[in-house]
Amino acid sequence: MKRVYTARHPIDAHLVRGLLEAEGIPAEVRGEVLFGARGEIPMTEDTLPSVWVLDERAAARALSIVQTHQEGAAPAAGPAWQCPACGEELEPQFSACWRCSPDVA
Ligand SMILES: [Zn+2]
Repeated sequence: MKRVYTARHPIDAHLVRGLLEAEGIPAEVRGEVLFGARGEIPMTEDTLPSVWVLDERAAARALSIVQTHQEGAAPAAGPAWQCPACGEELEPQFSACWRCSPDVA
């Protein structure tokens, strides 16, 4: 078991779990029960709802899916695209051009 995402809300945690399972990565939401007790216990990484993958070998792929989710970008699928500013050929998982915005990558 490996935690790949800490959500601010159980709905968000379940959304991420759904994304992972759609990619064939079994995942589980934990901590949503504690979420109901917020205000009574301090909210930390351990009490916020979190998403765990059952197979640690899938964790790296899961993390990249989570990252895509956090960036609000489309899933890493589809054709490569070309930056309209500099013409750089970009992989579909990048939502911005690394050449024009070096801090994006
Ligand atoms: Zn560019």
